[in-house]
Amino acid sequence: MRPGYLSEIFVSFQGEGAHVGRRHLFVRLAGCNLRCGYCDTPASLERTAAYNIHDDGRVEIGLNPVSAADVAALVGGLLDRKSPIDAISVTGGEPLTQAEFLADILRAGRFPIPVLLETNGVLPQRLPAVLPFIDIISMDIKPPSNTGEGAFWEEHAAFLELSLGKDVYVKLLVDEATTDKDVERAAELVAGIQPSIPIFMQPIVDPAGSSMIGPERLTHLYSIARLHLHSVRVLPQTHKLLGIR
Ligand code: SF4
Repeated sequence: MRPGYLSEIFVSFQGEGAHVGRRHLFVRLAGCNLRCGYCDTPASLERTAAYNIHDDGRVEIGLNPVSAADVAALVGGLLDRKSPIDAISVTGGEPLTQAEFLADILRAGRFPIPVLLETNGVLPQRLPAVLPFIDIISMDIKPPSNTGEGAFWEEHAAFLELSLGKDVYVKLLVDEATTDKDVERAAELVAGIQPSIPIFMQPIVDPAGSSMIGPERLTHLYSIARLHLHSVRVLPQTHKLLGIR
């Protein structure tokens, strides 16, 4: 088993998507293949020499690279002590940049609760390595009009196809720069694969926590998506509203 790079582990309430409000243990892996302009986890974009474990107000520091067995043991210990926890959320950065490492953690851990993968959805070729260990998939669709990155429509479609059979939902972050065309294309993409997949339209916020999209524009983009899909919901990042991690 190859060692890998961890950013942090903590327990909190899931603040986004279909499982919002549930208590999750977050395993944040380090490194990302994108650089979205609105990214709110800049500390996890690069692989660093150390990682943090947040536990009851204390922060313990560990050194990278770390073995998958050690991460599995850390997660298992926290699950025992912090019960009840509804799911393990694997996030980043982009966790699939270390897909083999993640698969080794989940294989070693044999965790007794569901595992939720939070992903940017642009690395479908890396998904099969972890798919047997994942129960829930939260896949972003990254519209080029608001990320500052290129378009990934084909990658997202391939990723979503591979995710069928899991509890999958899509997150679409929006701001005033997000175009009608991009929202329409995202909705058509999901509808073309399985129209029952829920989409969560999530307003992008600035560093002060203020929404970067006004109510009229948000309603307009919602209406475009709703033309193609039954299950479209607008949901802010609730952990930021609560002032928690
Ligand atoms: S994919 Fe996610 S972690 Fe990576 S830059 Fe974009 S928002 Fe940040």
